Amino acid sequence: MLINKETTLSLRCPACGILMADYVHAFSFSGNRQMDLECSCGQKKASIFREDNDNYILAFLCAICEQEHILSYSDEEIWRNIPRPLKCREAGIQVGKLGPQKDLIGKLETIAEHMQGDDFFINPGLVLNILDRLQGLAIEGKLFCYCGSQEVHVDLFADRIKLICQDCAGELLIAASREEDLENITRRNDIVLPGYSAEEKRGGRL
Ligand SMILES: [Zn+2]
Ligand SMILES: [Zn+2]
Ligand SMILES: [Zn+2]
Repeated sequence: MLINKETTLSLRCPACGILMADYVHAFSFSGNRQMDLECSCGQKKASIFREDNDNYILAFLCAICEQEHILSYSDEEIWRNIPRPLKCREAGIQVGKLGPQKDLIGKLETIAEHMQGDDFFINPGLVLNILDRLQGLAIEGKLFCYCGSQEVHVDLFADRIKLICQDCAGELLIAASREEDLENITRRNDIVLPGYSAEEKRGGRL
């Protein structure tokens, strides 16, 4: 099963005013059907509910008018890979954004948070350790694509992790179900996705 349903909710906090992004993944809704998003100051910013028909309801506390605004999305709409502004219904001013996440490191951190206790993965602890290792390599600049890009997208499967270059679509699969898989990753000094060089891209191979 593929779980590449993901998005990012960026919202300004009605209490402290900081604009922060939260990673939202379909697996955030496994088990319970609601996800609450809090600012680092402790203020609750928003809730997302999944209804029985796989529609999603986003209720956010507006930083402009301080009231709750409620939006509804179909399963297809909420995970759509384009940024959508979130506006105050009263004032028409933008208070946030729903859309794709490009920052690998921030994303891995959020995945790690949401993965605790999740039963999607064959071996959740191992996946977490492998993601941790990938994050370490990404921070050191040692996780990149042959095309030169460091914009790497992560797709999670029950037993493996797929890394996809956002520039050239080069892909690398990393097994993530057995202890050897972690040992394999731990031994690596870098991870290079088998992408396309700038020349190949220019040559119209893509
Ligand atoms: Zn805050
Ligand atoms: Zn408002
Ligand atoms: Zn690439």
